[in-house]
Amino acid sequence: MIRWRHIYGTALRSYQSICESNVKQLSSCTMGDKFKLPSRYGAGEKSVWVEYIQLAMDYKPAVNLGQGFPDYPPPEHVTKSLAEIAVGDNCLLNQYTRGFGHPRLVQNLSKVYSPLINRQLDPLNEILVTSGAYEALFSSILGHVDVGDEVIVIEPFFDCYDFMIKSAGGVPKFIALKPKCLEGVQTSSNWVLDENELKSLFTNKTKMLILNTPHNPLGKVFTAQELQTIADLCIKHDVLCLSDEVYEWMVYEPNKHIRIATLPGMWDRTITVGSAGKTFSVTGWKIGWAYAPADLMRNLQVVHQNCVYTCCTPVQEAVARAFEYELGRRDSPDCFFVSLARELTAKRDYLSKMLQENGFNPTVPEGGYFIVADWTKLKDKIDLSSEPDQYRDYKFTKKFAKETGVLTIPPSAFYSQPHKHLGEDFARFCFIKKDENLALCEKLLKEWNAKKK
Ligand code: PMP
Ligand code: GLN
Repeated sequence: MIRWRHIYGTALRSYQSICESNVKQLSSCTMGDKFKLPSRYGAGEKSVWVEYIQLAMDYKPAVNLGQGFPDYPPPEHVTKSLAEIAVGDNCLLNQYTRGFGHPRLVQNLSKVYSPLINRQLDPLNEILVTSGAYEALFSSILGHVDVGDEVIVIEPFFDCYDFMIKSAGGVPKFIALKPKCLEGVQTSSNWVLDENELKSLFTNKTKMLILNTPHNPLGKVFTAQELQTIADLCIKHDVLCLSDEVYEWMVYEPNKHIRIATLPGMWDRTITVGSAGKTFSVTGWKIGWAYAPADLMRNLQVVHQNCVYTCCTPVQEAVARAFEYELGRRDSPDCFFVSLARELTAKRDYLSKMLQENGFNPTVPEGGYFIVADWTKLKDKIDLSSEPDQYRDYKFTKKFAKETGVLTIPPSAFYSQPHKHLGEDFARFCFIKKDENLALCEKLLKEWNAKKK
């Protein structure tokens, strides 16, 4: 713990001195405002990922439950095929491939999704392979949002949506999910939208609504009824729906993932986003995709062909083979599309229980791999006065990491400025981690609580 404190202190001082010297350099710059970040990006210069990944690198927490990625190996068939592709007979698999998606991958994406959306997806015109789901979101937003267009965003939201909308000159309109009740053990279904508030956000300037189900960070899996309400409004006001479904395979019984594109009247106005990183537990591979009707897809293609052009060929080939392998055992309980959720259910339950036993009030997620937990019952056990951050959840997550060695993410990062207070009582824990690391987390939480009695 002493070593941790020492490293933390040293790293914090060096981080602060870099920031200070950057500020000095900027303020002494004779060019004035000429080279500042364009104002349309708003507050986009700050990123919770950049900050907390740097914290993890500097302070080396005993358990990192911050950024969402597995700390154990992906399925063997997935990584083996990538290794084989790089040195295999077909050396062209190391060269550029088709810009809008490697043929073998788009064919397989069509095979995976066509039965799920009850229509034959045209692999060449209705699917775009992107540099992670991030770029699918970026191309969808930049390909549709014009200056002054309004985009409805449900809070908490994956933080890049805000930046991307503003980059396009659009105006985000936020609506927060709110808990129906605050007492006792909760599930993510407790977090709901106020229908009247949602209705009031639709105007003649509304171009798009961004949906994220299963949801990051809450783990909410939107119900058929909730999706129908959203769909009815999108249809009534002629609005596009950008549906971020990267956690589509991580849905826990008895919940079911419903693709909003399958609701009557929604296919024509929905762009659905997926991620190989999430599907196959390879977040570092950064391959994603979007599927939608060809006329919408063309707008994404224009953005993609001019800023990315084509994604990494061997990785696309490996993702294609991984899909083929899983399609070959689609009805088996070993298929990764079902085994992953089974494996994660036990981890979710273990982490929820240990959080509850150690003073947190967790929201048990119906999907995804995060738990948002209220830490306010612990507030008398932790002195946050030494933490200079503006928001209480930033102060808490940093101080808690220093005292316990467990790193988490502050959820106020997932709210717009006026609503940040809604995230301040919480910390986000990621549970796609080795059982031994979850067990270490439990030990550290218990020891910390015992010391604070
Ligand atoms: N959407 C959500 C909701 C996410 O949590 C993430 C993070 N992985 C992404 C999109 C981006 O996914 P990718 O790593 O495939 O770019
Ligand atoms: N989606 C992951 C998370 O929410 C990673 C985000 C990122 O690193 N930008 O933790």
